[in-house]
Amino acid sequence: MTTSKAKKVSLRIGAVDYSIQCVTRLEDEASNRLFGRQHLGHSTIKLDSEQSCQSAWNTLWHESIHAICDAAGIRKHPEESTIRAITEGICGALRNNPILLAQPLTNQQWEELKKSKGA
Ligand SMILES: [Zn+2]
Repeated sequence: MTTSKAKKVSLRIGAVDYSIQCVTRLEDEASNRLFGRQHLGHSTIKLDSEQSCQSAWNTLWHESIHAICDAAGIRKHPEESTIRAITEGICGALRNNPILLAQPLTNQQWEELKKSKGA
């Protein structure tokens, strides 16, 4: 018997720790192919293993936005096109603006930003 040494990956959104699981051929109940799926009741976010790393990152954000809606008590999530638009905005902003990755924004960065404001 082989034991897996794979590190479990999770994502905390609100009060829920979501287990991130990579699966082969992720589908919905109607057998439609999915890149990802978030399930609050199981505290899981599943990602299809047959997508690129960049796609998986984008998908993880997409599913995280669904989880954020759940955490906020939003029963009817926004349309998928709205979730996709928010996802693209966040992913693009993070990739193109490293300052948004600061965890958190440091006092020094904040002071530099305040000094750089327009006259
Ligand atoms: Zn979605």
